[in-house]
Amino acid sequence: MCGIFGCIGVEEAARLILDGNFCLNHRGQEGAGLAVWNPENEELNFERRFGLASHLKQKVDPTKFKGFSGIGHVRYGTVGKSNIANVQPLVREFFGETLAVAHNGDFIKVEFGQEVLTIPEVKNRLEKDGVVFETTGDTEVIFALIARAPKENIIDKIIYTLNHMIGAFCLLISWRDHLIVARDPWGFHPLWLGKYGAGYVFSSEDCAFGHLNVEPVREIEPGEILVITPNLEVKHFRIERQVIMAFCSFEYVYLARPDSTIFGQSVSKVRRMMGQQTGLEMLELGTLPLNAKVVPILDSGRTSSLGLLEVILWQRAKQMLASKMNPEDLRLEDLLNYGFGVNRNQYSLRNFILADEHSRHIGADLKHNVDRAEVEGWEILECDDSVVRSDTIAKHVARLKRMGATKVHAAIPSPRVVGSCYYGVATRDTTKLVANNLSLEATREKIGADTLHHISLPGFKKCLGCDGKNFCTACFGDQYPIDPD
Ligand code: SF4
Repeated sequence: MCGIFGCIGVEEAARLILDGNFCLNHRGQEGAGLAVWNPENEELNFERRFGLASHLKQKVDPTKFKGFSGIGHVRYGTVGKSNIANVQPLVREFFGETLAVAHNGDFIKVEFGQEVLTIPEVKNRLEKDGVVFETTGDTEVIFALIARAPKENIIDKIIYTLNHMIGAFCLLISWRDHLIVARDPWGFHPLWLGKYGAGYVFSSEDCAFGHLNVEPVREIEPGEILVITPNLEVKHFRIERQVIMAFCSFEYVYLARPDSTIFGQSVSKVRRMMGQQTGLEMLELGTLPLNAKVVPILDSGRTSSLGLLEVILWQRAKQMLASKMNPEDLRLEDLLNYGFGVNRNQYSLRNFILADEHSRHIGADLKHNVDRAEVEGWEILECDDSVVRSDTIAKHVARLKRMGATKVHAAIPSPRVVGSCYYGVATRDTTKLVANNLSLEATREKIGADTLHHISLPGFKKCLGCDGKNFCTACFGDQYPIDPD
């Protein structure tokens, strides 16, 4: 997962791109960059920095990036080392042309002549042909493939190459004063089109449009390629590959912001339904603690915790009505068992997408703090978005108990993560996935919770809509849409 943002036909494109990166920072915190075409001297100016988008913004003077079109990127490393060479946009020159590429997702394979090769295999072939790669990631391979494509002009070469790439890719390519936009035919990750005055804007999520007064138009369709010329003519192309769509369901669990709409649905609505479904399943199993205080783990557990709370309040209201209690006996505090028992340091980063284990460990400590006043003497039902490695949830449970919670139950509105992701989320090492190593009961014991419930896979798919048809749920135990080997 990364964030990409680009525009064309916009005065001071650099300012908008820097702000766009900032609005997408939740999708990648490792590095940020921008590339802007300067039509006066016909040069592509670019800058890439390690760290947050705000860091890039501080270091870059947007007035020096003159131009009307360009692209930006915030990196969350999935493939390749955590170093500046892998921070995007990547920029390469060949045949007298300069291309800049911003990529969200992971390329997996390439149709290379008559063969289908994995990215390491194709890199190896190209290296033997004399291509020197400067990065350890998957994105860079696209330059060598574009250069070799058997077409005459650069746009045809790009379209040819995109038709031979297999994997997850939302791409923004800057070539001279043109912008090329593409989304893989599986549609793994989201990409939006917006209007800004006469110009066009592209963003991984539409939450950025609200901040920047960009008018949302629509999501780029799976398999769609747009080529936008300097006079803002939009040329439409398609990737000619017949596949079943595979929208990443983990975008709804964690990756996307709740105020975004992706794959045609509001993230907050889907997340809330996941919380409701989790509560309904616990109710059916008789494990929903109706007197517990619901505590969301901020931020991504917040929206689903409301759905969970709705089920509890609904049951409590039914109990009250059935008991024919005197309304005068109803106390204010009886109604809403909900509290921010775990607070988030607003200056902390998203922990799941930190690059290494040590940073995640320290990051979890610095990110959350338990408010004793909210939890002491209470049975707590904590709601977190997912359990991947289990270290973070174990810390929360221990802290809640240390601060006086009488019991801690964990409700997780996503199924157990049992498999790696090869399409843009860094869960490649299955040995680190707790669900891959321990049973549900052993996991509960490990994290120290009194009960642990994950939403069922069928229940989860119900919340995605169409029973999960057209969604990727491979890391939750379903079939992989593209064979990674
Ligand atoms: Fe998303 Fe999981 Fe599929 Fe990866 S495997 S694309 S994280 S649903």
